[in-house]
Amino acid sequence: MELFYESNKLTVRISDEKSLSFPYDEKLVRPKDEIVGEIASAICSALESDESILTTLDGLIKNREEKNSIHDGVPRRDALVYVSGKKNDAVALEVLKSSNPYTACLSDCETGKKMLNAYNGAKKNIEIVRTGFKEEERDDLLVSSLLALMTAYLNGIRYIAASFTSGDDDTFRTFEGEFGRYISIMTDADIFYFSILGNINELQASGIFSEQYKYFSCFNDCEKDMRSGKMCGHCKECLLDYILLTPFMMEMDIILLYTKKLLDDVTLVKEIRSLLGVDNKPYTGPGSVKEVWAALSFYLKSGNQGYLIKGFENNIREKNESITSLLLSRNNDSYMPKDFQNAVENKLREVFG
Ligand SMILES: [Zn+2]
Repeated sequence: MELFYESNKLTVRISDEKSLSFPYDEKLVRPKDEIVGEIASAICSALESDESILTTLDGLIKNREEKNSIHDGVPRRDALVYVSGKKNDAVALEVLKSSNPYTACLSDCETGKKMLNAYNGAKKNIEIVRTGFKEEERDDLLVSSLLALMTAYLNGIRYIAASFTSGDDDTFRTFEGEFGRYISIMTDADIFYFSILGNINELQASGIFSEQYKYFSCFNDCEKDMRSGKMCGHCKECLLDYILLTPFMMEMDIILLYTKKLLDDVTLVKEIRSLLGVDNKPYTGPGSVKEVWAALSFYLKSGNQGYLIKGFENNIREKNESITSLLLSRNNDSYMPKDFQNAVENKLREVFG
């Protein structure tokens, strides 16, 4: 399946003869209510209106109606995870794996593909090749979510499991609710969009990740170059991941991941100030300031030191943010269906006891 963008149309090519298009204007690439609805609705009506396409999809892509009737009355827990190679994509895969044998995956970049190879437990891997997108659109949340929606729709998959944590920026949380709402309002698709990590925080996700050795060579949250599979070791995201892994791994093992001790890197002063929330501009991003303080508090208590936290040591000790309470906490406002809550709890028990 190939997806490309030209002349304001997004086209899915299934074979040389068969393809389907729907209108897609670059000014629409924003998670606004009416736009999400419009595109989602266009995908579905394009599919419904061309029976020949649906017929040719049979075999290659399961007929959705048939798939629905097979599962009548049986709770379907097929979940699609969009894997782009982020640390939390691996956590989402592992959480779903523990109790859910129906995990489909979607990848469209090298890091994502490597992660899927390492996972090696998907019911089905669906690879999407896309061309014609501008670089900044490649990681756009709306674009990737629409791709996930289309893929779930074509494959009769009921759930799309995103990998935002409760510590993520509010933008993600808002998007999760609105995108899910619009799937249900604007399409006839029986598809539910939610984050499988929505009721845990970034520290808990890091703890789970720290035990998944197979992904250590193939994850990348780096804000500078997410797609190459190489972490720069010079950005805020790299520093954040490093700090949040310190409570769970030997520091020398983390150094192996980043090829150096990031907490000694003099070029990251601006980044540590931002993560600690001591700059005028409040930090928003994956993980909260509280989690960073808790991880560093634990780091100091374990007898470690770092150039970047010199000058903050007394504040960190005094604040004494508790890692234990963060590891026990849950966000009860998440959109997660009940079916999946046990999977998360089981994984947390497995890792933290
Ligand atoms: Zn980086």
